Amino acid sequence: MIQRTRQQPCPCGSGRPFSACCAPLLDGDVAAPTAEALMRSRYSAYALAREDYLLATWHASTRPVSLALHEPPRPRWIGLDIRRHEPQGDARAVVEFVARFRVDGRAHVLHETSRFVREGGRWYYVDGNFAP
Ligand SMILES: [Zn+2]
Repeated sequence: MIQRTRQQPCPCGSGRPFSACCAPLLDGDVAAPTAEALMRSRYSAYALAREDYLLATWHASTRPVSLALHEPPRPRWIGLDIRRHEPQGDARAVVEFVARFRVDGRAHVLHETSRFVREGGRWYYVDGNFAP
């Protein structure tokens, strides 16, 4: 896990302090109110190598056993851009985003459209399609 002080800007790029954005979600104090909020918190979890949170917010039907986030080469996550948040009724939503990261100094872009479902009052990541 990578430590971050609560006064630092949130990794998700909201412009808010970590303590007022994704930290309460990562700490389990509150559930993400929307799929977009869950998406942001999962990006922050990738940036901070919080595998526990990523697995806990992954739907059981598609959840991997582990993510090996600490094995090299470790990406450095440098930006998130939410392009679209499309609620589909109360229990489904689609979020399209672009995430930027560096591996060994080389820049990469992940452009994904992710599906989320809500069960028992909590949002879960299901899966995603990559843009070419
Ligand atoms: Zn955040």
